[in-house]
Amino acid sequence: MMKRIHVSGPSITEREIAYVTDAVSHAWLSNANVYNERFERAFADYHGVRHAVSLPSCTSALHLSLLALGIGPGDEVIVPDCTWIASAAPISYVGATPVFADIERDTWCLSAEAVEACVTPRTRALIAVDLYGGMPDYEALHAVARRHGIAVIEDAAEAAGSQYRGRAAGTLGAVGTFSFHGSKTLTTGEGGMLITDDDAIYRRVLVLRDHGRQPGDTLFDNREVGYKYKMSSLQAALGLAQIERIEELVARKREIFAWYREALDGCSDITLNSEPPHVRNSYWMVTAVLPERLGGKVAAIRHLAERGIDTRPFFSPLSSLQAYAGSASALQARERNRVCYEIGPHAINLPSGLQLERADVERVARELEGLLASA
Ligand SMILES: *Cc1c(COP(=O)(O)O)cnc(C)c1O
Repeated sequence: MMKRIHVSGPSITEREIAYVTDAVSHAWLSNANVYNERFERAFADYHGVRHAVSLPSCTSALHLSLLALGIGPGDEVIVPDCTWIASAAPISYVGATPVFADIERDTWCLSAEAVEACVTPRTRALIAVDLYGGMPDYEALHAVARRHGIAVIEDAAEAAGSQYRGRAAGTLGAVGTFSFHGSKTLTTGEGGMLITDDDAIYRRVLVLRDHGRQPGDTLFDNREVGYKYKMSSLQAALGLAQIERIEELVARKREIFAWYREALDGCSDITLNSEPPHVRNSYWMVTAVLPERLGGKVAAIRHLAERGIDTRPFFSPLSSLQAYAGSASALQARERNRVCYEIGPHAINLPSGLQLERADVERVARELEGLLASA
């Protein structure tokens, strides 16, 4: 039996095991927060920002970002149509309306031109997503945001370790959010982080995430109804070990991408992730846009699964999903977002886990070439 090739997977070393073992043994009582504080400090330092808040997920980080920016009912927030639904769901949590904008053909990220066309007097923010480790054209996005006075939130869930003009992914907006879900480059099993340089946003987030308590409150003096969004010390210990190894993890991701690029060199009708000169792509998921003659991503996913290779579909446009069916916002997006509707049905994420070996990548490439030759 050939070994199954998984689509994602973490890199866990003695360091992770030692920190988590120490946390489960000692991070209680007055030490309960030690690993959270160390993880947050190391994460903030790596990104060159003042504040980092460890959270249970990126979804909660986006929820708090919107709340801290004062976004609520009657407001509109622009989000790319092709992304994981977690980028958009928090817009609904706060009672605002998601407006789904198209992506760029090369970066697969939010298009500034599309954003411009979606802005209305009710637009309060845009959520830019660093899709699969790639980066949108932040200069153009900032120009649109400045012109209309709207806030930029960066969903860097898929881009830990990526860079845009030398700046770390997650630092390109007023707030940046990360996911440490088990599939992500840097993982804590489940988990997330919010980073910001803005003191007011930081203070607001600390209150909102702790049931409306002021930092340091010991008298259960809840000043408002808030949320309970915390990361456990065991997760933080795992995260600390991972952020200490971030450059190693990114180097491995980039090596895996280079193996694919080489192995698929002869496949001129497949397009892989792009990396413009001013970007360092951390290639969370190596992604292939397939030729239309293959008849869509589902057939390709099945073909590879039958040969022991797990892949994932490129995100279908959010505006095409039942979750948003019938909303006026989704109906308009379906008419408008040509690139999402062209790429979405024809692209897949290839196995990209940190445990992959070159021979695995070559096997995937061979099967993919076989599929192309047979169609
Ligand atoms: C994974 C992911 C999230 C959500 O992260 P959770 O930690 O699962 O909440 C948000 N946005 C994007 C783009 C993601 O890929």
